[in-house]
Amino acid sequence: MFYFYFVVMKLIFATNNQHKAEEVNAIIGGSFNVVTLAQAGIDLDIPEPHDTLEANASEKSRTIYELTNTNCFSEDTGLEVRALNGEPGVKSARYAGEDRSFDKNIEKLLQKLQNKPDKTARFRAVISLIIDGKEALFEGICSGRIIQDKRGTQGFGYDPVFIPDGADKTFGEMSLDEKTMYSHRAKATQKLVAFLNNIEPIKKI
Ligand code: IMP
Repeated sequence: MFYFYFVVMKLIFATNNQHKAEEVNAIIGGSFNVVTLAQAGIDLDIPEPHDTLEANASEKSRTIYELTNTNCFSEDTGLEVRALNGEPGVKSARYAGEDRSFDKNIEKLLQKLQNKPDKTARFRAVISLIIDGKEALFEGICSGRIIQDKRGTQGFGYDPVFIPDGADKTFGEMSLDEKTMYSHRAKATQKLVAFLNNIEPIKKI
């Protein structure tokens, strides 16, 4: 009789955001054992002090790798609005202040966009993966537009005011599976999975 052993690799996802964890797990979960900071017993709110998504994502994954010596990844996302020269961008979480209120951030965004005819925007997600101390970055972009009235209660952040290109609903009106068809995070995660699947010694023993 032959036995095949598949070792499912453990990866810490350096996030405290349950929505992000669900979205990433919908793509990666079957192939890898992804655990959030809370599931790994880590109570940390890692700062995002840099002025690029890449640097913030790197900081988060490096911090967790140094703390745990476990392969891990992190993700940083920004909403980039063309008429606002890319704002809120890397400041998306704290756009309206340090309390990181989704409602206040949306309110500020809609107020700034009120008299701007161009409502086009995009989400850009950057994932930083650290495997055996080496880093790889993956980007996912979702283009679309901002609407002036909130629609839907699913998701988080700016989801109720963002309609991706090719859709007629906001992310806030979409199920997890629907959002996965369009989202920046899904695209970056798909690149991450493709990369991991090509690291042969990790895949099988
Ligand atoms: P973070 O710094 O990557 O956690 O994300 C910055 C902010 O961008 C979050 O606080 C949310 O307001 C917003 N954001 C990130 N990803 C999404 C998304 O998929 N939909 C809507 N808003 C998002």
